[in-house]
Amino acid sequence: MLADTSSRPQSDAAFERAKKVIPGGVNSPARAFGAVGGTPVHMASGEGPWLTDVDGNRYVDFVGSWGPHILGHRHPAVMEAIADALTRSTSFGAPTPAETELAELVAEAVPSVEQVRMTNSGTEAAMSAVRLARGATGRDKVVKFAGNYHGHVDALLVSAGSGALTLGHPSSPGVPAGCTADTIVLDYNDVDQLTAAFEKYPDAIAGVFLEPVCGNMGLVVPTEEFLTALRDLCTRHGALLAFDEVMCGFRVAYGGAQARFGVTPDLTMMGKVIGGGMPVGAYGGPAEVMKHISPVGSVYQAGTLSGNPVAMACGVATLKALRDGDVYERLEALAARLEAGLTDAIEATGTPACIQRVGSMLTLFFTSGPVTNLIDAQKSDVERFARYFHGMLDRGVYLPCSQYEAMFVSAAHTEELIDATVAAAREVLHVI
Ligand code: PMP
Repeated sequence: MLADTSSRPQSDAAFERAKKVIPGGVNSPARAFGAVGGTPVHMASGEGPWLTDVDGNRYVDFVGSWGPHILGHRHPAVMEAIADALTRSTSFGAPTPAETELAELVAEAVPSVEQVRMTNSGTEAAMSAVRLARGATGRDKVVKFAGNYHGHVDALLVSAGSGALTLGHPSSPGVPAGCTADTIVLDYNDVDQLTAAFEKYPDAIAGVFLEPVCGNMGLVVPTEEFLTALRDLCTRHGALLAFDEVMCGFRVAYGGAQARFGVTPDLTMMGKVIGGGMPVGAYGGPAEVMKHISPVGSVYQAGTLSGNPVAMACGVATLKALRDGDVYERLEALAARLEAGLTDAIEATGTPACIQRVGSMLTLFFTSGPVTNLIDAQKSDVERFARYFHGMLDRGVYLPCSQYEAMFVSAAHTEELIDATVAAAREVLHVI
């Protein structure tokens, strides 16, 4: 089922060519294999749970374009919707019904959302949500948590997870100190720190931003106590609770982490799954909050290609397939099977590691765990992770190329593929 995929001469050549005209040969650092070494694999096509590289090697895909492909590649209903949209045009710069349809689907599904504004990326959604929180409250300070990533938004690019963490640049040159002077960084799951922040700045915090299931320091779950404290403290102090559900929205449940946990934020950021693999982000909330956004309110935010009709068609078809099928039950069963198999493999090989999972998102941490925040995550043996990653890659399993990411199971995976992946992991864990 899985083959030897270790020979990739055309991929290596494609990367050499790319490096001449694209910084680092990639258009997003998360793809660069910076943390694991070696050459990023150039892909040619995808089908269901499979990726095929430019050399013709086939991999079972647990990256899913970093989350969007919850249905697998080239789902028939999604392909049909895109083809149909293309018969009309690629863009109008004027409203189209598809935008309203996607907004209606989001508002129906996500508890906190009455109104939603589409953007072209998760970064744009987060950037706009920060501006909205500040504009709506008339306050400047924002709280974020170490290891949470909200895109490359200046104000939030402090102790960010994912690529920024992997590359060892918790914040970036080019972000003026003034941009982060109002950003308070706390440890995830730490109620005492959160309480202390509100005591110190009782009337100054515009919003508290977090990933309600964090995927950007590896998969880390919020405690019930933390979620309750977040909601209570924000309400008590007039700050907006802002859930970044770019990764976990429509992934851990149809209505996102807020539906799964029963905690309703004031602002929600989305991306990835809602675009079904097209460049879509979104932010939404109650009409009372969203009324501050231009053209109704005075907080400005815009986008030439926002609500792009082809992207909207892709998003609508994806959400309808998720709403109308038994996808989440299937994802849960497949991911639980993967978790159980990997746990057995860890135990059988005596590997100091643990697995953390919510629904179809999971991380194998090379530390005994549990991992509750960035400090715990950084105890991981990243060199062992790099050997694991390459061992799996050469055996036809495509994983996220960093310890500080989550892998994604799709509804197109099968029990046989999960078992083959576990068998490969057992082999690799044995030799690393
Ligand atoms: N927020 C979260 C939680 C994310 O995981 C990401 C991307 N991985 C972003 C925001 C940024 O989204 P984008 O890459 O589409 O700008």
